[in-house]
Amino acid sequence: MLTMALALVFVMGNVNRAARFAQAGAVLQALGWVLLLLSSRAAPGSSLDFAMSTLSMGCISGGLACNAAAFELWCGRGAPNRVPALLAIAMTAGYGAGFSHYAFRVGWANGLLALQMALMVVGLARRAVVPVGRWRWLLAGGLAVQALFTAWRGVLGAFFTEQFPTFMTPHPVNLAFAMVANVTTVAGLVGILLAHRDEAARSLERLATIDGLTGVLNRRAWLLQADTELANSIRHGSPLAVLMIDIDYFKQINDSRGHEAGDRALQCFAAVLKNACRSGDIVCRYGGEEFCVLLLRADEEAVQAFDRRIRIHLQDAAMPELGHALGYSGGMALRAPDEVRMAGLLRRADAALYRAKAMGRARTIDAGRAPVELS
Ligand code: GH3
Ligand code: MG
Ligand code: MG
Repeated sequence: MLTMALALVFVMGNVNRAARFAQAGAVLQALGWVLLLLSSRAAPGSSLDFAMSTLSMGCISGGLACNAAAFELWCGRGAPNRVPALLAIAMTAGYGAGFSHYAFRVGWANGLLALQMALMVVGLARRAVVPVGRWRWLLAGGLAVQALFTAWRGVLGAFFTEQFPTFMTPHPVNLAFAMVANVTTVAGLVGILLAHRDEAARSLERLATIDGLTGVLNRRAWLLQADTELANSIRHGSPLAVLMIDIDYFKQINDSRGHEAGDRALQCFAAVLKNACRSGDIVCRYGGEEFCVLLLRADEEAVQAFDRRIRIHLQDAAMPELGHALGYSGGMALRAPDEVRMAGLLRRADAALYRAKAMGRARTIDAGRAPVELS
């Protein structure tokens, strides 16, 4: 456990919250077991024995609570759950208070540790919020076995004390526990490293699909989703529309107020777009100061209403947030009955946008369902 604690601290580094919890968990548990082994050297019942044993219980159950927090984060559940920490506090306090009663303290400590482990198994087995690899079964399996043996030791200590007079007693259950711990510790380490790798892969994926400045999808990710939604729209015969947007005179903002003001304007614009969307609509930064919105189950009227909503929200937000107005031109296109490719829709929306610019900007032109006239 000491090796695992040192390896996790040096290999993972201080990368994120979940990793920090996993490291704290490993360090605390290793420390707990060291203290427990040392306490068996102290005179039984002495104050040194009491101090080391109680501290050891605090470290082991606190370590489990930290691991539980790491696993929750790796399963995508962000909200902190207080139960493991409360159990750790109750376990340590109860153990310290009842230290003079061997049967009670062994039953209490092992019982609550087993409960902590069992709750972690339940947490790992619950449906995760993000896609979770098979590492969770490695962790859950190891913890389930540990919970079983820990509970068993608790029962022996509490109710069959003569068979389990000390923590080192070579009772078959104690020996089996020691053997199994070799396997579960290795499985735990592998599980933790795989969970950590999964999280890194998820954040890379997020980086590859989200525009870093505005937080909306990038063009590549949008096109992938748009293709899926187009196929759905064809299958269900539901209308689908594309609104292509380009901010007016954006270069002037950069030139007169600086690039950072331009960046803030883009962020403000993206936020307005997201707020104006209905759920299911998909926004992306198409490039530079161009945005594109895919509107599901939307006909002309719905897109026009959406466009009006953006213009109103923009009027309300731009002045107070940026200190200047922000306008845009738009081109909208609706899926034609025989349309099976996004490229055609995008081309028509883009052509309509070009016309909106040519007609003096600050307007949205409807390309409708007709193909573009080539002039
Ligand atoms: P128009 O009304 O015809 O659309 O004119 P415009 O000035 O908005 O368009 P133009 O294409 O001439 O300029 C777009 C500018 O957007 C040029 C580019 O420097 C700027 N731009 C692109 N990406 C970013 C960005 O991430 N941040 C900032 N600040 N500016 C950007
Ligand atoms: Mg442009
Ligand atoms: Mg522009």
